[in-house]
Amino acid sequence: MGKLIFWIIVVLVALTIARIAARINVRNSARNNQGARPAQPPRGRPAPAGRAVPAEQMVRCAHCGIHLPRSEAALIGGRTWCSQEHARLGERH
Ligand SMILES: [Zn+2]
Repeated sequence: MGKLIFWIIVVLVALTIARIAARINVRNSARNNQGARPAQPPRGRPAPAGRAVPAEQMVRCAHCGIHLPRSEAALIGGRTWCSQEHARLGERH
């Protein structure tokens, strides 16, 4: 009888350890995903729609159509331009 109780305890302890280990793994992978945000999204999951990969918003020059980060673009007359020169030249298609 004592032997049976001993084995039941061993099995319960093993299950508990396995459960704790699984929980730690989930927590670690979640933390890793948060840390690696600029990199590609986690495997097996599609990239969230509508969210561009670059952290900074990209805007388009209304003159030449080049795409550039918003911080580098000139916002003049409600439109974005790659340079003051293109803002002066105006919109072109
Ligand atoms: Zn331009």
